[in-house]
Amino acid sequence: MIKNNISLIKEKIALICAKIKRDPALIALVAVSKNRTLEQIKEVVDAGITDIGENKVQEALIKYSSVLGTPYAVRIKWHLIGHLQTNKARDAVKIFDLIHSVDSPRLAREIDKQAAKINKVQDILIEVKTSPEEAKSGLKPEEATEVIKEISALKNIKIQGLMTIAPLVDNSEKARPYFSQLKELLDNINAAHTTPQALQTLSMGMTDDFEIALEEGANMLRIGRAIF
Ligand SMILES: *Cc1c(COP(=O)(O)O)cnc(C)c1O
Repeated sequence: MIKNNISLIKEKIALICAKIKRDPALIALVAVSKNRTLEQIKEVVDAGITDIGENKVQEALIKYSSVLGTPYAVRIKWHLIGHLQTNKARDAVKIFDLIHSVDSPRLAREIDKQAAKINKVQDILIEVKTSPEEAKSGLKPEEATEVIKEISALKNIKIQGLMTIAPLVDNSEKARPYFSQLKELLDNINAAHTTPQALQTLSMGMTDDFEIALEEGANMLRIGRAIF
């Protein structure tokens, strides 16, 4: 079941990549396993997807600990896709390969501090709120460049790119402007040499809108329901 679902998603990614002339091998697929069991995660890894996304530190910590010492521990790359509270930064830095949800200098400084303690350079993405809905976390697009400049000076953090969550819409086509906005922001940041190295990763697109996100330049998709 999971294996078939993944094949189907990969076929769709390949189709779109052919259309927009991009290499499907460069599109990362993060399986979002929040509220899923360890058995389901293992099935995903066995099917060849080793990027695993969780939205809560506590839940991820339990899963991470359960695979420690098994071959899965070596293969899985853990992604934090949900909001991170400053007081959970210590645990987050211990287990996550990529934190997608950094949305303030304060949080970045705490991640930097905790990463320094364990001699780690923590890969992160900056979460940008491309939709004006108030409830969502993320930096405002107009403040992102300044904040990114500030965060990129931290020694134990490496900003790999940007992340956004498009608002819930009845038709995925309506999500397109949010994705193109994030791509434009990334291009502007890189054109202005805001960071020591150009930002590469654009984490955007979920089950309902990943095809649109891909067309708009996503190279990291976060997919839950379509897999499980
Ligand atoms: C749950 C979640 C996803 C995956 O959503 P699906 O619709 O299940 O594909 C992606 N990104 C974030 C931030 C999420 O919380």
